[in-house]
Amino acid sequence: MKLTPDPKQALLTELNKCRACRFCVDVCPTYQVSGGLEALSSFGRIQIIRHLLTGMLELDDSLSYALYSCLQCRRCENTCKAKGQALEICEIIQQARAYLAPDYAKEVTNGV
Ligand code: SF4
Ligand code: SF4
Repeated sequence: MKLTPDPKQALLTELNKCRACRFCVDVCPTYQVSGGLEALSSFGRIQIIRHLLTGMLELDDSLSYALYSCLQCRRCENTCKAKGQALEICEIIQQARAYLAPDYAKEVTNGV
């Protein structure tokens, strides 16, 4: 994903490559341990980021948790690439953390 002066547009451009095939969902370990919560899957995180960027959702603790609970393991990226789409899912999530919820990790750390 190209870094640009407009992180929102860069994120939306990358997100728009997603075909919503959902091949990446079942391989996501946080989805697996959650018992099937889509918000804690790779595709779920992509949808959350899209809706936060377009104003359809407002950031709250549960959405921040969805962003920060990603393990950055790249299993979703490898699957997406194998299926021919190759979204930079980990980079999307990292950039979304920095752009949409930069203070969340600090708040959680201070709270313990
Ligand atoms: S595998 Fe790739 S294209 Fe398919 S839903 Fe996941 S991120 Fe989107
Ligand atoms: S990088 Fe994050 S979203 Fe992708 S499979 Fe790993 S935990 Fe799931």
